[in-house]
Amino acid sequence: MFEGSDLSVLDFQAMSDEGLIDALRTAHGASAAAQAAEVFAVRELYRRHRAVSAEPGPGGVRAGEFAATEAAVALRVDEGSTAAMIDVGLALEDWLPRTRAEFAAGRIDLAKVRVIIDNTRAVAREVLGELEPRLLETAERTTPVRLRQAARRWAARLDPAGAQRRRERQQDDRDVRIRAMQDCMAVFDGLLPAAGAQTVAMRLREMSLEVCAADPRTMPQRRADALVALADGSGRLRCACGRGARCPKKEATGEAPRRPLIQIGIAADALLDMRDAPAFLAGYGPIDAALARILAEHARFQVISERSESEPEAPRLDREVRAVDGMCRFPGCTIPAAESEPDVTSTGTTVLCTRHKRLKTLADNKKVPWDTWLADPDRLQWTSPAGEIHTTSREGARYLFPHNDIDLPIGQNTSTPTASRDSPDDIAYPFRGHVLVHRQLCRIAPEDEIPDDATTPAASQA
Ligand SMILES: [Zn+2]
Ligand SMILES: [Zn+2]
Repeated sequence: MFEGSDLSVLDFQAMSDEGLIDALRTAHGASAAAQAAEVFAVRELYRRHRAVSAEPGPGGVRAGEFAATEAAVALRVDEGSTAAMIDVGLALEDWLPRTRAEFAAGRIDLAKVRVIIDNTRAVAREVLGELEPRLLETAERTTPVRLRQAARRWAARLDPAGAQRRRERQQDDRDVRIRAMQDCMAVFDGLLPAAGAQTVAMRLREMSLEVCAADPRTMPQRRADALVALADGSGRLRCACGRGARCPKKEATGEAPRRPLIQIGIAADALLDMRDAPAFLAGYGPIDAALARILAEHARFQVISERSESEPEAPRLDREVRAVDGMCRFPGCTIPAAESEPDVTSTGTTVLCTRHKRLKTLADNKKVPWDTWLADPDRLQWTSPAGEIHTTSREGARYLFPHNDIDLPIGQNTSTPTASRDSPDDIAYPFRGHVLVHRQLCRIAPEDEIPDDATTPAASQA
């Protein structure tokens, strides 16, 4: 009914219920077709990059690797999402021609396309001719969850010999990652081979029972604390019953936790409880000052002094640059400064994560058509190959010197930060949990970059 009409000018209030359902269906198809267009456009950009930018070896350009970066800064999304779009585009081209056509026409949406890719990637090619049409037909009349169940059943029936191949393929997808949530919390999430997951689960359970029965924590809380204790080097839970020498598990002490695994930037007056400005937890985002003060009880301190704008910028120490930059200076990148490397130019020093330091070095050497310019230490400009300019500033300084935060709306209460770092799960680009089929795309998300060994003597001789 609304085929070809402009959805933005429809008068929903004047429509019948049937008309609204009709409009809903048309709009969903239109957004699916638009998603398909985005996927195909990024995939084409990737093809062009690949055609010109192969230069293997350390310090060279890996074919096509910055197509996702260019698309990501243009759309203001993370590079993991645009890498996933390329991956989907390649999979549709490689082995799912019918799904590609249906997606382009808006008759199947991205969620279902992802299910079909996931469930056909390890299926024998000769079976696909039969499997793909069945999946498409089912997709038309069911939800993504039901489609996934049906796809698994059919793959097992049509390709029984592939069960082992699928299991091995699944093991390749093992992964652990965290996602920032609101209110100083984060989701810790992962996919492990069953035996490994069971090992972790049993160890957490064992640790949860090392405290006495009067410990006030629930089992879920103890498991969560035990996981952190595994990582911070203490290796065991300290009993929280508060009975001191009368605690039957009192002798269980464990190692002292390793300290600086996390970094927090906080204004001196906020630390001293004279101001309620938010602090900055590297890799996460803003946390409230009260939490920062609790974490600071066992912290090592580094004092970062403020410098006025008029003062000529004397070279800052690397640790000072890390503190005032807060995180990698590429647009949208959230890799903590502690995990980034200093990059020295004539106008000042900034920090960049491994991936974006590579990009900048390649740009400086004219190996990729990007341009960077550090106008002053607070303004690092990136010019994309298409000529778009993106500027980043010193995020950490906003927390260390809150009285200078010019972006702060006047009268805003700074004591309750609500927005943490943007979740990689962008609502417009639902790629959470997408496992890349194409290995060459696996290093595009900055947190997945693996540093080269090129600078070690052994590697440079090789
Ligand atoms: Zn106890
Ligand atoms: Zn970065």
